[in-house]
Amino acid sequence: MPTLLNKKRSAPTLRRPAAPALIFGDLWNYDPAPETADPKLKSRYELFIGGKFVAPASGKYFDSINPANEQKLAEIARANAADVAAAYRAAKKAYDQTWSRLPGRERAKYLFRIARLLQDRAREFAVAETMDGGKPIKESRDFDVPMAAAHFFYHAGWADKLEYVAPGRRVASLGVVGQVIPWNFPLLMLAWKIAPALAMGNCVVIKPAETTSITALKLAEIFQDAGLPAGVVNIVTGFADTGAAVMGHPLAAKVAFTGSTEVGKIIMRSLAGTDKKMTMELGGKAANIIFDDAPLDQAVEGIINGIFFNQGHVCCAGSRLLVHEPIAAAVLAKLKQRISVLRVGDPLDKNTDIGAINSPAQLATIKRLVAVGVKEGATLYQPDCALPAKGYYFRPTIFSGVSMSHRIAREEIFGPVLSVLTFRTVDEAIEKANNTAYGLSAGVWTDKGARILKLAAELKAGVVWANTYNKFDPASPFGGYKESGFGREGGCQGLLDYCKLD
Ligand code: NAD
Repeated sequence: MPTLLNKKRSAPTLRRPAAPALIFGDLWNYDPAPETADPKLKSRYELFIGGKFVAPASGKYFDSINPANEQKLAEIARANAADVAAAYRAAKKAYDQTWSRLPGRERAKYLFRIARLLQDRAREFAVAETMDGGKPIKESRDFDVPMAAAHFFYHAGWADKLEYVAPGRRVASLGVVGQVIPWNFPLLMLAWKIAPALAMGNCVVIKPAETTSITALKLAEIFQDAGLPAGVVNIVTGFADTGAAVMGHPLAAKVAFTGSTEVGKIIMRSLAGTDKKMTMELGGKAANIIFDDAPLDQAVEGIINGIFFNQGHVCCAGSRLLVHEPIAAAVLAKLKQRISVLRVGDPLDKNTDIGAINSPAQLATIKRLVAVGVKEGATLYQPDCALPAKGYYFRPTIFSGVSMSHRIAREEIFGPVLSVLTFRTVDEAIEKANNTAYGLSAGVWTDKGARILKLAAELKAGVVWANTYNKFDPASPFGGYKESGFGREGGCQGLLDYCKLD
């Protein structure tokens, strides 16, 4: 039997390769690869109260717009104070009659079921999330939806082990919890809020952000399919007035808010003097600190991920780069080269790195603050990439020559804009990183373990990532210092914010 080796082979035809048809720039272009899964959207979404979809008492609806192309996706019910009151009545009834009486192992079964049903419909949810919010499909597919399911799984695991949340103490649920969330991680923020509340035995009234309500109402379909008892979770959609009604309702034993520091302060002022428990997850202006002994290419990827991930719509975005002076020029050159090949465009395209800005209002805020940066004398760099004609887009932007007094170094821009500052010593890096009203997160890039431990202890930030950035796990608590808020989400620390201890 002849083997391949002794088989006689005809000589290969030597053909000269055709003259390259591509010019260099084209090498970076991929053919479009749009995600085609059906997001199964309805043309109209009602409120979810008492386990049913109900029309709003207000009779009013508003449009949810796809920021990638400015097309209307669906009509969303606008809840008024009467709708919010109905949601609280449904939640209180469910709490008194059903949920608080169920043993933890029974509550766990519902949470496991919700997690599995979300996994089953993962692609559909990812597409809906991308169309409603503008984030690239690779993020909603690989991060938002799996991480949301992971939070339900994780908290399902806790529901029958609550005696270990605070060993030696007896934990008890609070009752009905009011929650309001922002638009940057619509489904994930729902999971962060709903899963620990339910695991602990509470019932929920929650309001998603006005520009991103769709995946919340799709999750309500999953609650129905999972057989979650009516009223355990109620979803009311609307604007600031709806949010204020949710936060201020007398039946709310606790309120949990994620959003801007400005709105967080308004809520805190309005609730001062009440006995409501409160947690606030607010804004940030994180420092990503790069020392001269860091692995530079890895650090550059970390910086890119830290600020351009999700168009910079991330509370913990590494929006201030603090770079060690000896390597500042080299890092800046690498960053400029790297952002020049980021693909900005259709969020449904699997090749897209930077999708659409969530709303015209957010785009206007980014443009305003970038103009301030230029006026204050920082040096702007933007790649010359083409942006789609329709939709809300912004080029990735790097400001160098930034000083601590510049507004772009102090204010949350919440867009794909990086401000680069330099430092000479470890103490100067810590001083600059902490010189902010916020304290949500920070990153440290260095070869030295001792330096990482020193910075982790001295940085006033709820999370410090070392030689990585933007990594999340349901077991790891997340939350802020100073004007970034108080309370934690995730881990057993997060559960402590949803119970009372005897
Ligand atoms: P936002 O504060 O404008 O709105 C957040 C939510 O609050 C929305 O649902 C909105 O309708 C509602 N709201 C507005 N006014 C209200 C009022 N007076 N009373 C009650 N509710 C009201 O924030 P945003 O623009 O949607 O989100 C971006 C902000 O969220 C950024 O500052 C970001 O840093 C922050 N954020 C923080 C975290 C965290 O974990 N710390 C996570 C995500 C986002």
